[in-house]
Amino acid sequence: NLSFKLDRAFKTLKGTGKITEINVATTVKEIRRALIDADVNYKVAKEVTDTIKTEALGRDVLISVSPGQLLVKITQEELTKLMGGTKEDISLKGDPNVILISGLQGSGKTTFSGKLAYHLKKQGRQVLLAACDIYRPAAIEQLKTLGEQIGVEVYAEPDNKNALEIASRAVEYAKKNGKKTVIVDTAGRLAVDEQMMNEISELKENLNPSETLFVVDSMTGQDAVNTAKTFDERLNFNGVVLTKLDGDTRGGAAISIRHVVDKPIKFISTGEKMENLDVFYPDRMAQRILGMGDVVSLVERAQQSFDEDEAKRINAKIRKNQFNFEDFLSQIEQIKKMGNLKDLMGMIPGMGKVIKGMDIDDDSFKPIEAIIKSMTPLERENPDVIDGSRRKRIAQGSGRTIQEVNNLMKQFNDMRKLMKQMNKMGGAQRALGNLV
Ligand code: GDP
Ligand code: MG
Repeated sequence: NLSFKLDRAFKTLKGTGKITEINVATTVKEIRRALIDADVNYKVAKEVTDTIKTEALGRDVLISVSPGQLLVKITQEELTKLMGGTKEDISLKGDPNVILISGLQGSGKTTFSGKLAYHLKKQGRQVLLAACDIYRPAAIEQLKTLGEQIGVEVYAEPDNKNALEIASRAVEYAKKNGKKTVIVDTAGRLAVDEQMMNEISELKENLNPSETLFVVDSMTGQDAVNTAKTFDERLNFNGVVLTKLDGDTRGGAAISIRHVVDKPIKFISTGEKMENLDVFYPDRMAQRILGMGDVVSLVERAQQSFDEDEAKRINAKIRKNQFNFEDFLSQIEQIKKMGNLKDLMGMIPGMGKVIKGMDIDDDSFKPIEAIIKSMTPLERENPDVIDGSRRKRIAQGSGRTIQEVNNLMKQFNDMRKLMKQMNKMGGAQRALGNLV
């Protein structure tokens, strides 16, 4: 029924129903567990959550946002910062510029080379792919197939076993043929070994690439971090490409790698198709890692549309146990400003299922608004004067039933009771940062 639905909406949207249960420490612990579940290194996860705790306790909480949601938002901000804050482009300096692709076998180097070529081609750049994986004959074929698919020329010397020679001639070929970028796909081993490291270091020293990218399979978790460290020590690469971020992989490796090698992640690869390449945006990844995407935008929307002064005013009234029907009406206005109520509620994890098929929309407020608007100013400000005969008059005036008026009164009184209880816990609230 309507009163039940609204009760839920208010509780969830304002977080009032949760306040007494909210405990920053517990929430922070949950966030830490979520990070570790998403493959974030334990030490890194602990550092992040310690910062979050300090941040959360220092912030004013808007009446409209539950503390849990605010913590999610702060976490997202911290994770974004940890991953570099903003996106970083690759350098295309040089004529032609060389982009050297490094990484273990199977990490996705060849696939990424094709994707990057396609990405640059779509920007109108003339690109050449150089096939420098000299150990697996099939590797050249694989690159050629991709090249044909995306319409990018591939330079290869199938009988040559010297990667540097092939790459150098590819650069010469590019110069002669007006290609502006040479992407050098290289060989990789199943584990880091000396020969591979020597070969790729030699390529880097001689080709003077504008970008040396390290490609890493995000599904390999902690191993990804160790491999990144070893490659960086030898190669001092410019950026990281995280592959295989499709499916269930949550991308915690992005945070750990950034933390350990302090090099920006520049691209993510999310599938085998040539189109599945994305520029890396730290904020989007933070959202993904938290696995709570829509909650974050809900919090943001709430923060944008809720009038902070109004929130403070109501906050003060709640503290003095003076919350009345005028305030109630103003709260409804605020919630309506946030947009479609069903959409908003659908963003809350778990709520989507609950409200599916329910007819929650802005119209749900209409009967309530009608009832409150039929009250006299005296009744709105002093709800205790509303006795049986006044209820009857209000019902008639608003075109609603007495039952509905009674329900609203009950709901309102329950709300006030809850607020009173919260005020009694005033000390605890202040400790949690001015929550209401
Ligand atoms: P390389 O040995 O480093 O050159 O790796 P490849 O480019 O040959 O990729 C190894 C395997 O991973 C191939 O089967 C690719 O199709 C697959 N692969 C590469 N990138 C992705 C990705 O982002 N998502 C998925 N699902 N598969 C990928
Ligand atoms: Mg390959």
